[in-house]
Amino acid sequence: MEQKDINAIVALAKRRGFIFPSSEIYGGISNAFDYGPLGVEMKNNIKNEWWKMFVRKRQNIVGLDASIIMNPKVWEASGHVAEFSDPLVEDVKTHKRYRLDHLLEEHDIDITGMGIDEMSAVIEERGIKSPDGNALTNARHFNLLFQTHIGTTEETMSTVYLRPETAQAMFVDFKNIVSSSRVSLPFGVAQIGKAFRNEITPRNFIFRTREFEQMEIEYFVRASEWEEHFEEWLQEMDAWIQRLGLKKTRIHRAEIPEGERAHYSQRTVDIEYDFPFGRKELYGLAYRGDYDLQQHASHSNETLVIVDAQTNEKVVPHTIEPTFGVERTLLAVLVDGYTEEVLENDTRIVLKIAPWLSPYTVAVFPLVANDSQMRQKATTLWGSLSGSYSAFYDQSGAIGKRYRRQDEIGTPLCVTIDGDSLQDDTATLRDRDSMEQVRVQCSDISRCIHDVLQGLSFADIQSRYSV
Ligand code: ATP
Repeated sequence: MEQKDINAIVALAKRRGFIFPSSEIYGGISNAFDYGPLGVEMKNNIKNEWWKMFVRKRQNIVGLDASIIMNPKVWEASGHVAEFSDPLVEDVKTHKRYRLDHLLEEHDIDITGMGIDEMSAVIEERGIKSPDGNALTNARHFNLLFQTHIGTTEETMSTVYLRPETAQAMFVDFKNIVSSSRVSLPFGVAQIGKAFRNEITPRNFIFRTREFEQMEIEYFVRASEWEEHFEEWLQEMDAWIQRLGLKKTRIHRAEIPEGERAHYSQRTVDIEYDFPFGRKELYGLAYRGDYDLQQHASHSNETLVIVDAQTNEKVVPHTIEPTFGVERTLLAVLVDGYTEEVLENDTRIVLKIAPWLSPYTVAVFPLVANDSQMRQKATTLWGSLSGSYSAFYDQSGAIGKRYRRQDEIGTPLCVTIDGDSLQDDTATLRDRDSMEQVRVQCSDISRCIHDVLQGLSFADIQSRYSV
């Protein structure tokens, strides 16, 4: 496996405005991050493309944007209040807390199928200490739900939770969706939004944070057909990963064994990615049976059913849940694309990412900043492109440095207006990955960008548009 330096990626992300530590001027806050000018563009590209692929381009998936704070009964019914916990141990001296399963994994102990008691026993038997060398307390379950209160007086105040996943709203709104939309089995409900978990050990940059975004689908199917839909969703998730352009060799499927699956799930597959800090879950796919709809039906006393058009009977559908983390997607894309190329005189940092993911699709430069005609022409060209594409204009500094700056942030194409452009209305188009250049008509530039976004290679662009 090609090893990438996570510190170099963290440094680039900060230097170029992708990801900043949150509240930095106040000393920061552990493991919270802000997405800067380029980070927000990339996150939006990811979310928009996902929505396009799974909602807009499908006839049987509808969208939802539900409230983050829901009736607390939702989380009682779903089992989160009682069971959404991780095993925690504490250093008896420093009182630092650790996730027991992670601690054992760091000691290369295979925890497959182990419950909290078995894991605690391993700590005892092997005399495993905290990373600071101190004894550890007995393990206990630590609930990850973030609690807060609503209401204005002590008496009326009630405890509520920040949602730990977007998923439950798709079950809670099932009745409204079925009655208001022309959905029939199989169909899905998709949502993108924030989720909050009081993680014991958030770490690895944006991989595990307490506040994050999910892109989730609850796909409702006939009970008898769950296996084929599960396979179909494995393929759909592969297609998404292919769209992201992630290297296949870094992607792995992990079948989750029975002891580690939720009790209601007959099959769960994690899609893992080789991050610089190890192979970790990127996405998940779970078959949830009819557990959630049954739970909400019994806790709310509502009937949560749909008429199956094939049999005309009312049924409680079963659910397949593909779930995708936005930040883990962004991190995998940054890791996958980050490249240091040793050139003759220096090293070039390039973010080799799919063109549609890049914060800017094109950068436009006048070759000479103090030539007003060049500036004018470049500004006009930028204006004509910025309506359709994410375009950046830059007139300061040596042209080579301007190219390098765009390479670092993954801009697939740069256009330079020079003296000849003023005479013949052509410009230089430069490719990020090969650094090759081609002379094209200014009126063709929009088409060149369109073609690159469609997946055409720069060689194709050259043969199609070169003048
Ligand atoms: P893990 O085992 O890593 O804690 P999980 O199995 O609890 O993850 P899920 O409940 O399946 O995760 O969450 C669905 C998706 O949400 C994950 O596949 C991941 O992409 C994302 N995700 C979960 N927890 C976090 C987090 N703390 N920070 C960032 N993304 C997260």
